[in-house]
Amino acid sequence: MENTLKKQFRCDIAFDECKACARCVEACPRSLLKIGTAINMMGYPAAEYAGAGCIGCGACYYCCPEPGAITIVEIIPDGKED
Ligand code: SF4
Ligand code: SF4
Repeated sequence: MENTLKKQFRCDIAFDECKACARCVEACPRSLLKIGTAINMMGYPAAEYAGAGCIGCGACYYCCPEPGAITIVEIIPDGKED
């Protein structure tokens, strides 16, 4: 039976805030982040989230040197988000 109490998370990366240092890529225990190919307005290839699998550990958030570049979002089943 599906565990309905299991929380789900998403990693949002603010495209234009990322400086492509790859610290988050190294830190993610589930290897869900990578440096992308699209260039942001700062001239960097911003990091990208794989789209699923985030456990909300916060490792990427805490190692990122750019304030506001990473936000961890809890996905609430009824469609609202924290
Ligand atoms: S919160 Fe944890 S699992 Fe989710 S993307 Fe960041 S490092 Fe990976
Ligand atoms: S740690 Fe922050 S600045 Fe560095 S690649 Fe990841 S999101 Fe970009």
